[in-house]
Amino acid sequence: MALHGENLKMGKDVRGIERGKCACGECEDFMRSDGATCGYCGCLPTRHSKKDARYSSDSVGSTSGARTSESPEKWKDEDLGWFPNPKGEYTEFSNSILPKFYLSFWTTCPYKERFRRCFVTERKRQWEVREALKAINHKLVFVTSDNPSGESSSA
Ligand SMILES: [Zn+2]
Ligand SMILES: [Zn+2]
Repeated sequence: MALHGENLKMGKDVRGIERGKCACGECEDFMRSDGATCGYCGCLPTRHSKKDARYSSDSVGSTSGARTSESPEKWKDEDLGWFPNPKGEYTEFSNSILPKFYLSFWTTCPYKERFRRCFVTERKRQWEVREALKAINHKLVFVTSDNPSGESSSA
């Protein structure tokens, strides 16, 4: 009857690093002993290959969706409202405001569908503001410029 719970430490060296096969070929797993060396073959733990211990780090999430993390421009996603080939002024305008909107909004709403809905609403609002400003600027230009009537320049 073995009452000690040393089995839990099986495979881990004194620093808590899990180690497997030994270079000497004697064991498949490092065996914890009283000293630093392997209890079975007597080799140093460093001769035993390190097992992948990524799970021990406290990195939560962000590993599953690593497919798109290669590009820093994550907003270039049609699901978010990005136009791959903007053809008109509106689509170009939409693309131009998407990065800023993405950076400020994606952190609070990391759901594509909802994000897109909010973005579509927001870009419509901004577009209308822009159009209104354009109209005002046009009027201002018209007022401040002392053009004689009849001469209009089309931009
Ligand atoms: Zn060993
Ligand atoms: Zn060994």
